[in-house]
Amino acid sequence: MTQHRNAPIDISPEEFRSAGHQLVDRIAEHLSEIRGLPVTRSESPSQIRKALGTGSVPAKGSPTNELLQDTASLLFDHSLLNGHPGFWGYINASGAPMGALADLLAASVNANVGAYALSPLATEMEKQSVQWIAELIGYPSDSGGILVSGGNMANLVCFLAGRKAKTPWEIRTKGIGGDGKTLRVYCSSETHTWVQKAADMFGLGTDSIVWIPVDNTLRMDIAALRREIESDKKQGNIPLMVIGAAGTVGTGAVDPLREIAAVCREHNIWFHVDGAYGAAAAVMPDASEDLKALSLTDSVAVDPHKWFYVPFEAGCALVRNKQALLDAFSYHPVYYKFHDGEEPPTNFYEYGPQNSRGFRALKVWLLLRQIGREGYIQMIGDDIRLSKEMYRALQQHPEIQTFTQGLSITTFRYVPQDVQRGEKTSEEYLNKLNTELLTRLQASGKVYPSNSVINGAFVIRACIVNFRTTLEDVLALPELVVKLGKLVDGDLREKELKV
Ligand SMILES: *Cc1c(COP(=O)(O)O)cnc(C)c1O
Repeated sequence: MTQHRNAPIDISPEEFRSAGHQLVDRIAEHLSEIRGLPVTRSESPSQIRKALGTGSVPAKGSPTNELLQDTASLLFDHSLLNGHPGFWGYINASGAPMGALADLLAASVNANVGAYALSPLATEMEKQSVQWIAELIGYPSDSGGILVSGGNMANLVCFLAGRKAKTPWEIRTKGIGGDGKTLRVYCSSETHTWVQKAADMFGLGTDSIVWIPVDNTLRMDIAALRREIESDKKQGNIPLMVIGAAGTVGTGAVDPLREIAAVCREHNIWFHVDGAYGAAAAVMPDASEDLKALSLTDSVAVDPHKWFYVPFEAGCALVRNKQALLDAFSYHPVYYKFHDGEEPPTNFYEYGPQNSRGFRALKVWLLLRQIGREGYIQMIGDDIRLSKEMYRALQQHPEIQTFTQGLSITTFRYVPQDVQRGEKTSEEYLNKLNTELLTRLQASGKVYPSNSVINGAFVIRACIVNFRTTLEDVLALPELVVKLGKLVDGDLREKELKV
């Protein structure tokens, strides 16, 4: 009798090998032609549903190879390709090919990295990845951390570590109302929306956020921060945490982190930095003094799926004192008995909110090994240089107004020659024009920037976290902007004449 149960899910090794090889060939072909494909086809949900097909769950299964080949076509034809050299939207990196292979390998092991006993090697790989990320950005190598799904989750995990560490009562048992006092969180007006989610989900409420104004370089105004903290203390509120930005999502601004660190030390406040975008740039030997000051924080959120080019999802919460994560998350339920033996193992379920955890560490670990510090310095440096070249090229055009260039983000807008900037009606017109221009740029299939708003002005924003972008791609942008800008301007004026 053969030891084989007839389970439809358990395909034969021959079938696995053949389907796998063919799939890898398909992916390689797609990657080789990606430059010539449209970034997106801007299809509507109903067009997508039509391609996908509707209907109920299939009663019978399908053959593996055919299914994979059909699905590869479906995905390559109807996805937005953020691996395209012209993709510069949001902060959304092109994913490393190694990541695809890593995920295949990780799923083959199917490690549950919630507990050491279930994932001995994977757990140590995750610890090593976290330590390497800390080293790369100049964070203490004996700090602690955990991989999570992305920047938001990394920030949320750090937020909870800080909340536990600095609330003067037992917040995990007494809850947020503990003393009838109000906990306060400070961050610049440019902070990403995760902070509202954190204040809301963890019971502080969004009114507990003190929005600190920014200076004309969009960095936190330190004098205002000091005033707010002192005023809160006078009123009996509890300053819990200051959140600094290492690369704001809008323009890549880096807050004066060294000065914020001093304020936090003085007042015994948790200092967290959102480095989801910009912390990676601390790897550069010529990083700014403020990026180098990351080492002065209590916690940092890093986002490997951004500027480390790891395919989604991978975030990383780093905490200077690793005990702070255990203090914030650890429980010892009776149904887990993992603590035998001499060497206490790391059980990641005690360091964050998740219980069962996937092996996302493998793609991070493999990429750090494949690329190394020098490789990251080269690629991040190239992205920054290309962004500066883009800014320069845009600046040279009389009908393009440039706004900011920070890290690898450039912001600009199209301004027709006869439109006077600064007047209310013309500013309204420029906002309308550039909103439509952005849609047309994205629909062109050639490039895909996104937008930001700076002092009320709608600006187009290109963020290069893309190892496929070349100088030629960047230098071709101004002409495309002006060409489509003129068309939009013509269309809008014609519409206005008709009204
Ligand atoms: C992208 C980003 C986030 C959110 O990260 P996700 O990976 O999208 O969850 C938070 N803060 C900043 C500054 C970011 O750039």
